[in-house]
Amino acid sequence: MKYLIIGSGPAGIFGAEAIRRRDAESTVTMVSPEDTIAYSPVIITYWIGGKVPQRGLYFRDSSWADQNRIELKLGQQAISLQTRLQKLTLESGEEISYDRLLIASGSSPVSLPIFGVTLKGVHSIRRVGDAEAILAEIANLHQAIIIGGGFVGLKVADHLKERGIDVMILEKETRLVPRIFDGKASLFLVDKLGRENIRVETGVEVEEILGKAGRVCGVRMKDGRIHPGQMVIQSVGVRPNINFLAGSGIAVEKGVPVNTRMETNITGIYAAGDVTLTLDSITGEKVNNATWPAASRQGTVAGMNMAGGNISCPHNLSLNAFSLCGVPVMTAGNPSETNGQALMEEGPGFYRKILLQEGKLTGFILIGEVSQAGILLSLMKKREIVSGAALLQKPFSGRKYLPPGYGYQHGSLFLRSKWERS
Ligand SMILES: Cc1cc2nc3c(=O)[nH]c(=O)nc-3n(C[C@H](O)[C@H](O)[C@H](O)COP(=O)(O)OP(=O)(O)OC[C@H]3O[C@@H](n4cnc5c(N)ncnc54)[C@H](O)[C@@H]3O)c2cc1C
Repeated sequence: MKYLIIGSGPAGIFGAEAIRRRDAESTVTMVSPEDTIAYSPVIITYWIGGKVPQRGLYFRDSSWADQNRIELKLGQQAISLQTRLQKLTLESGEEISYDRLLIASGSSPVSLPIFGVTLKGVHSIRRVGDAEAILAEIANLHQAIIIGGGFVGLKVADHLKERGIDVMILEKETRLVPRIFDGKASLFLVDKLGRENIRVETGVEVEEILGKAGRVCGVRMKDGRIHPGQMVIQSVGVRPNINFLAGSGIAVEKGVPVNTRMETNITGIYAAGDVTLTLDSITGEKVNNATWPAASRQGTVAGMNMAGGNISCPHNLSLNAFSLCGVPVMTAGNPSETNGQALMEEGPGFYRKILLQEGKLTGFILIGEVSQAGILLSLMKKREIVSGAALLQKPFSGRKYLPPGYGYQHGSLFLRSKWERS
């Protein structure tokens, strides 16, 4: 059996390891345009902030490929795929044949369609090279502008500030992390960031990146204002790397749709990680779950099945956890949904929101107080009716916002009708 893996991020690496667990003999080849494998984009902002050394980026050591007998083809990009002939063509013109293929080509940052994005000092953050380019400019940097207030933009801002740089975040939507946060969560963090001297503007749009002698010197906003800065970081989302699949016969939408076994529409060809479209366990909609836990889990499931197993991804939920200016933040599911019953609590240093829909837990936001994350997540995965279960159980020092019908008894949340009956 000849296994071929496109991409050397977590989905590709976990896929290769899963294949090896079931098949010690066959050939496994991995292709990547980069010259280094198995580094974590999650850690890149920590490296920029000086919190971890460069070696801390790597989640497997340099002997990994030899130990697992993986043939690496580095510095080589896949450019086309002929599924009928079972052949992948690389940029160099080399063709590689396969029996089973894993597409783990991840995603790339979106670049804004505005004037000035090609100026020196304008960056995105994804690969090791992006961070190297940012670090090379940091000595002369005083003011940095982050376009995009999603999770990655917030992390970059926090870590640049740690380097003593003035940082400003500009977000087009009216709140930070708009797909996940509600207004209260956003305000909580805008306030926290402000107190840490990170300026945030929401509901604003950058019209143009300004330059002088080929280098960025600021941005002009749609409302005409100008913000000065020697660096601009675009953090406005990612797009799956699917161009090389054109004409291959693999079904492609805004990513590669797969079933729960991570198989594409073509038997023997699997996909995992940021490149995929999977069904969200809660909404049932096709989503691009571009997170580390999804990539590693999907890579493992794909690899096992490629090597003759028959397993499925047990659940598929959006899940994010990080720390911002020392405040722990954890979110899961779809807590910004407006349908359903929102249980909210806020107080000094914390904000928590739990969303129930038809009695089931479908999302949560925990900021500053995340100790219940484990239990909430397991309730979400079980998809059981949780009315009557203790949810917001920690001692209450803050204001509570409860939906009609809910109340507290002995510090636990109950559906009033249930406890009044019992
Ligand atoms: C700055 C940053 C911070 C993040 N923080 C978090 C976080 O806190 N929590 C979290 O859950 N997630 C986070 N993520 C997201 C997480 O890193 C990704 O979801 C995860 O890395 C996806 O893994 P992957 O293997 O699918 O793709 P990638 O890690 O993108 O790897 C894909 C690989 O495929 C290669 N490739 C691309 N095109 C081709 C081609 N044509 N031929 C061959 N190879 C190709 C790429 O070079 C790369 O090596 C963060 C991402 C970034 C950029």
